[in-house]
Amino acid sequence: MREYQYLMNNEVQNNMVVSLDYTVRLEDGQSIDSSIGKTPLRYLHGHQNIIPGLEEALTGMRVGENHPHIIVPPEKAYGARTEATEWLPRDIFPVDGEIQPGMTFAVEDESGETYPLFIKEVKTDNVLVDYNHPLAGKTLSFEVTVVDVRPATPEELAHGHVHNGDGQF
Ligand code: ZN
Repeated sequence: MREYQYLMNNEVQNNMVVSLDYTVRLEDGQSIDSSIGKTPLRYLHGHQNIIPGLEEALTGMRVGENHPHIIVPPEKAYGARTEATEWLPRDIFPVDGEIQPGMTFAVEDESGETYPLFIKEVKTDNVLVDYNHPLAGKTLSFEVTVVDVRPATPEELAHGHVHNGDGQF
């Protein structure tokens, strides 16, 4: 037996490329990122290009639709804060001057993925670093407007991301 599924071509569903205007705020209302005044975010829906809580909430939204408060808890955003800290030798850091608590370094792993590393504490020969994402443990509130939706190309589906655009989030 065949299953027929009617797909609205203006609705956010898996394997659609979505253009999105968004503003993301912390619980206290402080805006931390926004596409307003820049180009909308473009991503491939259903391929974990964006945080799971936002992807879930966007499913079924239509072009032109706005949602002022999508509340995303840490477990569906950047995870809980963990005790992911480590003392590292001072001299592996490529800094001529002083290393200070609060500084951030970008670290690249073998696969070419970069992630931030935060300096928490500094001693003469060692530095305490924190591997948590800066938004770990935070509940986020998104305001979104769906600007455009189109089916992904076969190539985009094979790669799992959008081409000719930013696609990264
Ligand atoms: Zn690609």
